[in-house]
Amino acid sequence: MKSLITRRKSLLVAASAALALSLSACGGGSGSAPAPVDKPSFAAGTTMEKLNKAGKIVIGTKFDQPLFGQKGLDGKPVGFDVEIGKSIAAKLGIPADKIEWVETVSANRESFIEQGRVDIVIATYTITDARKQKVSFAGPYYQAGQALLVNKDDNSITKPEDVKGKKVCSVTGSTPAKTIVDKYGADLVPAANYTACLEPLRNKQVVAVTTDNVILAGYVDKEPDAFKLASDQTFTKEPYGIGLKKDDTVFRNWINDQLEAFGKDGTYKKAWEATAGKVIKTAPELPAISRY
Ligand code: GLU
Repeated sequence: MKSLITRRKSLLVAASAALALSLSACGGGSGSAPAPVDKPSFAAGTTMEKLNKAGKIVIGTKFDQPLFGQKGLDGKPVGFDVEIGKSIAAKLGIPADKIEWVETVSANRESFIEQGRVDIVIATYTITDARKQKVSFAGPYYQAGQALLVNKDDNSITKPEDVKGKKVCSVTGSTPAKTIVDKYGADLVPAANYTACLEPLRNKQVVAVTTDNVILAGYVDKEPDAFKLASDQTFTKEPYGIGLKKDDTVFRNWINDQLEAFGKDGTYKKAWEATAGKVIKTAPELPAISRY
């Protein structure tokens, strides 16, 4: 008789191999990003030179959004935004373990950049004219669109017009919070981050949570029995940019050059496939960079 112990052992071996695989897929290492460039040279006085000399960079990202930026078990964030950040750092000659990740929520991204608490922000950050008054944007590197998350058993909401006068949770300082009030007349229940909207939705204190489709898709993926997207349609355009100090045009142009190169050399595709692409099946094309 093949002993139970032997069978258990082989199960254990298989389980730990699977764990090792999933840990590496979760960004235990440098993830999909290219190897850091060895001694890149940058013009004196540029932000690129300063960061390269310092050998580290501080990047603001989300910590609670599966697929784009979520803090992993090892305390480091993982997701598409995080992979883009690692790839940019690599081009500055900075390895992934020299990136300091700082949580930025929707409302503090401009102020963290203005105060120099972060060097760049990559955090599902829509490029808008209002935000451009305070910060500059490289990109866009992705285009999302606003959508609605509802309880799985709720078929009464399929479009934004359906939430008029109803309680909807979204995040302070975000573009979707403004749109759902200004354009669709919802009764906004504001939260500090999107995860904080999930319990109110589950408890039916709000009828929907609204933000970008790809953020909501991450929550549906985690809890497919609890939540669903109200529709596959989106009702805004949310081009994601990389936020940086206002008018640091040389740095912005350089980041734009890197993004364009990532679109051509497969880095962009790899970053997507290692993260959001595991759940969202339509692979994006890098949008045309806006060199405003
Ligand atoms: N992309 C939108 C924004 O920048 C919503 C997502 C978010 O709050 O990060 O406001």
